[in-house]
Amino acid sequence: MSRFGLLIDVSRCNGCSGCVVGCKNWHGIPAGEEGRIRLVDRTVGSFPEVRRWIFPVMCMQCDFPPCVTVCRFGACFVDERGIIQVNEEKCVGCELCVIACPYDARVMRRDGVPESCNLCLDRIEEGKEPYCVASCPTHALIFGDLDNPESELSKLIKQKGARPLKRKHHTRPRVYYTHARELEAFV
Ligand code: SF4
Ligand code: SF4
Ligand code: SF4
Repeated sequence: MSRFGLLIDVSRCNGCSGCVVGCKNWHGIPAGEEGRIRLVDRTVGSFPEVRRWIFPVMCMQCDFPPCVTVCRFGACFVDERGIIQVNEEKCVGCELCVIACPYDARVMRRDGVPESCNLCLDRIEEGKEPYCVASCPTHALIFGDLDNPESELSKLIKQKGARPLKRKHHTRPRVYYTHARELEAFV
């Protein structure tokens, strides 16, 4: 079985918000509501040693997800493909999963149901890549199978020395970042 994941090549992200807007459009999230992706934009240092970091943060599709562990209603669950989902029928809107997420990757919708990335399940079932990946003009987002050493994703992760953020939480995230050491403080 595939173990789907993402690589964020931060050196290629120009902060255009294409992934944020594309995701909202694809999933029908209205203007004014928070989406499933947030952009972090931080500038560090002082002239002339200044560096700006811009990168998207979304659900990390943790292998050991605290959002699932804390949900007492069985609403937040891992499906047979290992993708984190919410069963809206079972959700009581207690917000525990939002609080438990170490990545601040989940938001409450106005209707009281939590919203977070599911890797565009509807698209990957059709063999397409997630819409954020398709929306990125600089190829900063790469989707694929982490368990296939021959996938573009696995090769680029190795080549670029990418790794997940905040590994101290031991959730085994499936989203990898280049420049992870520099980004840790911003997430
Ligand atoms: S990043 Fe947050 S919402 Fe996503 S699986 Fe991990 S704990 Fe759950
Ligand atoms: S908000 Fe819904 S999915 Fe999240 S912990 Fe509560 S019942 Fe579970
Ligand atoms: S679409 Fe690509 S370049 Fe634009 S903000 Fe998202 S990751 Fe960065």
